[in-house]
Amino acid sequence: MKWLLVGASTIAAEYMISAIRAQSGGSVAYVVSGSEKRAAEYAAKHQIPRYGSDLDVALASSDIDAVYISSTNEKHLPQAMAAIAAGKHVLCEKPLGMSLEEAAEMVRAAAAKRVTFATNHHLRCAGSHRAIRALVETGRIGRVLSMRLHHAVFLPPHLQGWRLNDPNAGGGVIPDITVHDADTVRFHLGEDPAEVVAQMTASGLGQGVEDSCMSVWSMPSGVQVFAHDSFTHRYAGSGLEIHGTEGSIFGRGVMTQKPVGEIELVTAKGREVVSYSTHDLYTQGIADFEAAIAGKGRPAADGPDGVKSLAVALAVREAARSGTRHSVNYGGF
Ligand code: NDP
Repeated sequence: MKWLLVGASTIAAEYMISAIRAQSGGSVAYVVSGSEKRAAEYAAKHQIPRYGSDLDVALASSDIDAVYISSTNEKHLPQAMAAIAAGKHVLCEKPLGMSLEEAAEMVRAAAAKRVTFATNHHLRCAGSHRAIRALVETGRIGRVLSMRLHHAVFLPPHLQGWRLNDPNAGGGVIPDITVHDADTVRFHLGEDPAEVVAQMTASGLGQGVEDSCMSVWSMPSGVQVFAHDSFTHRYAGSGLEIHGTEGSIFGRGVMTQKPVGEIELVTAKGREVVSYSTHDLYTQGIADFEAAIAGKGRPAADGPDGVKSLAVALAVREAARSGTRHSVNYGGF
């Protein structure tokens, strides 16, 4: 499959270009940047044969099968709509858009055009998370009572730009990290958060946007969820816990881009270390996406998953702003 990259981004350089090239017959054919100079430099650095700053010209290439969008968040909507109109399959970065309406618009357009559309929520692709999901699904911890997410990390210096100072580009820890938590919770628990309360702060790095947030979500089944997200915690580590009537799951170090971490299951029988596949998360995501295009299964996280994760993040921010409990509006999804 031939891919067009929209966005000369860090995530593409660090993970997605290699994930595309790891597929049988997978190639990165084209990169589009807002700047011709940057596109040329990026193409040279990553051995991408074609480059430019005109998205329409790139989309007119009939040999491009799929488009990966990893620009800053405010550009996702126009770029996704152009790619969909050109009949390309689209893998779009999270958050899909700046608002629920934007995300819904692109997902509905993709459905109308009958192209495959997916959201790059990588955590669902991790062997660790798939093993945890299997434990929950097969009843190993009984009825789920609560879930805690530890996603307070330190934003690496090379990413300390628009995420910290540009609300118009989608900056802030809530659109960046809480949105991943929302997808992870939906993946593990198989239901959508109903109501949230939250507090947020700019505790050191954030300039005009929040860099830290704690929120509590209620699920329709009555399960309680706690999420701690931050850009400022150098040594906290990440993880999740899911507690049930018959056991608890501890996933330590698993809220990450790498196939790392430890899973422990604790029940009346004692403690058990759970093994899992250590495949690359993003390579798995591309594999699932390409399989979906071929009619085999669905993307790891599809368009509605991206709409819903954004809906939860927006509700968390609104709850934090207002200081009140907020219902999650899924916009009909
Ligand atoms: P970057 O800041 O690296 O890139 C975003 C845009 O900023 C690029 O498209 C580029 O614009 C511009 N840019 C990047 N570097 C420079 C530079 N040195 N000088 C000038 N402009 C520059 O962002 P990320 O890669 O961190 O994030 C991109 C998207 O991917 C976001 O939507 C983010 O939420 C998402 N993301 C998802 C992850 C996941 O695991 N699913 C992980 C990380 C990010 P242009 O293309 O016009 O040149």
